[in-house]
Amino acid sequence: MKCAKKLERKKKQNLKTNNMQKTIKKKIGRETHTFIIEGENLYEVVMESQKLSFNDVEKCGSCGSDNLILNARLAQKKYKYVEIKCVACRASVVFGSTQENPDVFYLRKNDNKQLAWQAFNPAEING
Ligand SMILES: [Zn+2]
Repeated sequence: MKCAKKLERKKKQNLKTNNMQKTIKKKIGRETHTFIIEGENLYEVVMESQKLSFNDVEKCGSCGSDNLILNARLAQKKYKYVEIKCVACRASVVFGSTQENPDVFYLRKNDNKQLAWQAFNPAEING
């Protein structure tokens, strides 16, 4: 079942001709990450680009360092997380995705509409 689904998706991808590309740059700390967005037309390209629903993040919200990395991890063998992690103090801010579309990623914010940076908590790792 799983294989058939994958194959079908692959077929669909091959049929589609992506004529347009858009380059998006997101600055995370000192690094600039370049994303190439593809689509058949302007609508598709812009729709695709909106899946990266976050702004540049220049500094750690906890210690102010610009030594930030993009990090992806699998928690409890099933939850996929992408986060921005501070190399200096190990604080992180996690990307959420919308319920309507799990391909849309945004950075989690707190009640004050600030990025929801979380300080490193060793207790979490120990259990
Ligand atoms: Zn930091």
